[in-house]
Amino acid sequence: MDKQIKFIADGMLGSLARWLRLLGFDTEYFSGKDKYFLAYRARNEKRVVLTRDRKFVSENKSTSLLIESETLREQLKEVKKKLHLTFDRTVFFSRCSICNQPLEPKSLSDVIDDIPPYVARTQKNFSQCKKCGRIYWQATHWERMIDFIKSIDNEN
Ligand SMILES: [Zn+2]
Repeated sequence: MDKQIKFIADGMLGSLARWLRLLGFDTEYFSGKDKYFLAYRARNEKRVVLTRDRKFVSENKSTSLLIESETLREQLKEVKKKLHLTFDRTVFFSRCSICNQPLEPKSLSDVIDDIPPYVARTQKNFSQCKKCGRIYWQATHWERMIDFIKSIDNEN
């Protein structure tokens, strides 16, 4: 259920959008000014709008969620709490944090020419974004992210 929920974050919430993607949620980012178009896209693509704009939320109650917190950490907690989400580790790092495309699993031989030698020596599992070509692997930021999410999960 959770995994099917899709988001579109407005221009104020770029970091939140990137994190939701890393957590496996399909999250588009809308940097435009035209709020009518944002509302249209949300309806058309069945996405929940994440916004800090109270007026927008009051006009689009059924399709938007007001984000009141200032920091990324609090914003993630807010989304989780208000929508009763669970963060499922099995889908972490399944989407490109930059373009929201699902990542494709790759073997070392697929990516060896495009990664630093120390990564090639120490990592086995890779994935790649078809759109921008960015290669992902489970490095230290992965562990930091798991710790960060765990700490959010533990505070309620
Ligand atoms: Zn990408």
